[in-house]
Amino acid sequence: MDKKKIYLSLSQQSGFENEYIQKALETNWITSGGPNVDEFENELQNYYEDESSVTALNSGTSAIHLALILLGVKAGDEVICQSMTFSASANPILYQGAIPVFIDSEVETWNICPDNLEVAIKDRIKKGKKPKAIIAVHLYGTPYKIDEVHAIADKYGIPIIEDSAEALGSSYKGKKCGSFGNFGVLSFNGNKIITTSSGGALISNSKETKEKAIFYATQSKDNAVHYQHSEIGYNYRMSNICAGIGLGQIKSLNSNIESRIINHNFYKSIFNSIDGVKLFEVSNEDFFSNYWLNSILIEPDFSNSKNRESLRLALEKANIESRPLWKPMHLQPIFEKYPYYGNKIAEQLFEKGLCLPSGTNLLIEDKDRIKEAITTFFKNN
Ligand SMILES: *Cc1c(COP(=O)(O)O)cnc(C)c1O
Repeated sequence: MDKKKIYLSLSQQSGFENEYIQKALETNWITSGGPNVDEFENELQNYYEDESSVTALNSGTSAIHLALILLGVKAGDEVICQSMTFSASANPILYQGAIPVFIDSEVETWNICPDNLEVAIKDRIKKGKKPKAIIAVHLYGTPYKIDEVHAIADKYGIPIIEDSAEALGSSYKGKKCGSFGNFGVLSFNGNKIITTSSGGALISNSKETKEKAIFYATQSKDNAVHYQHSEIGYNYRMSNICAGIGLGQIKSLNSNIESRIINHNFYKSIFNSIDGVKLFEVSNEDFFSNYWLNSILIEPDFSNSKNRESLRLALEKANIESRPLWKPMHLQPIFEKYPYYGNKIAEQLFEKGLCLPSGTNLLIEDKDRIKEAITTFFKNN
């Protein structure tokens, strides 16, 4: 293979990262926390245009873990979690010794199904345990059914952790994803819409919660001249160097979102004319997706053996990366023993779904290669 590999989702530099990293080096702020971290938090808070408080952390996973801790989730508690997601949404439940209860997706947004959510809550309460929290995810940038899911959470008084790791820039009825839940979570991992190399943020609605989050994220140091600890601490704060990358990256957030939407329209033009393939799109204008990753569902064609896996292999042959959708958590060896409520929607999505290259940096020639590979594959043979 002589052609360069086309990846699923690569980051792209804005060109401003260096100046902030340089400043950190010159001022010797080479540690966790610091001026870049404060400034990055301010930028994110401005982006959210409201009273949201943002705490910059070393990963999105840490943010979910801290949200659970701040909600008082303890060993033996139950936490509801969308099954169709990346494992980082669910792992922190186990860090707390709590029990995940997985919920199926619905077909419109591929996210947590409100009907099954309510069935699960009622059943868990009947069995004697009211769930302590709900982790809902905006998969691939598409907002979950916010009105329905939050109405149910409010009805039963259960807080929501809004996993917005893939959805910075997405919104619902004009309000930005990450700002709906009791806690919102962002990720700045290398594959996300902006990156700090590794990083994340916890969005909360008060300064006090932010202070408490920083307390836990910096080893839970009590107020004393020596190091005194009365609670478990974590080393979860964002580094000042990483925040420098973030300050450079956030300047190109809007243009990154534009690029992802251009990518989406590129795939739309391809799949409009291919039968049996459906490009994942928002269902109405209440939903705005950053189209972080473009995904398709392929109805298996038995006569021609065209299906998700044969397309994946054809693309791999052309040195183009693609990947099945997230394998649902309730099917994962580590999670399969935990309760699950659903109707096999997530299973079907996993079976038929494929994510396609959607990086901010996709070039015209990359798109030509992708188009060529896909149209050749679907040409009748
Ligand atoms: C990336 C991601 C996370 C975790 O973020 P990290 O920064 O990699 O720890 C959590 N949830 C979802 C849905 C993600 O895609």
